[in-house]
Amino acid sequence: MKILIVEDEVILNKTINTSLKESGYEVESAYDGKKALDLVLVENYDLIVLDLNLPFIDGMDVLKTIRKNDDETKIIILSARSQIEDKVEGLDYGANDFLEKPFHLDELKARIRSLTRRRFIQNNSLLSFDGITLDTKTRLTKINNSSIILTRKETGILEYLLINEGRPISQEELIEHVWDSSIDMLSNSIRVHISALRRKLKKELSYDPIENRIGVGYLLRKRK
Ligand code: CA
Repeated sequence: MKILIVEDEVILNKTINTSLKESGYEVESAYDGKKALDLVLVENYDLIVLDLNLPFIDGMDVLKTIRKNDDETKIIILSARSQIEDKVEGLDYGANDFLEKPFHLDELKARIRSLTRRRFIQNNSLLSFDGITLDTKTRLTKINNSSIILTRKETGILEYLLINEGRPISQEELIEHVWDSSIDMLSNSIRVHISALRRKLKKELSYDPIENRIGVGYLLRKRK
């Protein structure tokens, strides 16, 4: 799950960034509206936390620009402007949620979980597939109810495959959603993480639950 934080208050931005990373998200930060739009053009975010009062391009204009051709990315507006008009305008222009400053980080995280879940019609924080369960809140993975140790990247890959169950995911798409762009990714390296994940899952399940369809991508498969 990849998140962009657009907030010009440096300390607040960094605090949110660190806290969301600790919760297992891939997180990037932008400190003005122009940079945010630059990033949105080249990156594929699942969710954007967007402040309204921003240098260069106002948050509301950032929202409008994104929504011109993207209805998918979830957007939570963050604002010190408490006026009801801002809230209404933001929601009218396609924001998914609105959080008034000051807010508690736990509240932001709960809203993020709720929005990313809603997209995939999950009723709780658990993703599951044929004996595999991943708690998106605690980042713990269990196989037939016993915990297994996965790295942060392995967990991210598994989460993305679970969310997109039934749809083959290409290496490129995994890189876009599971890695942050600050890391220079070689396709070799993602293969290493995927094989490590497959090995660990196979050891517990006694079959390999990740199918690699050559030229198409990876997808979860059930025990035969
Ligand atoms: Ca601001």
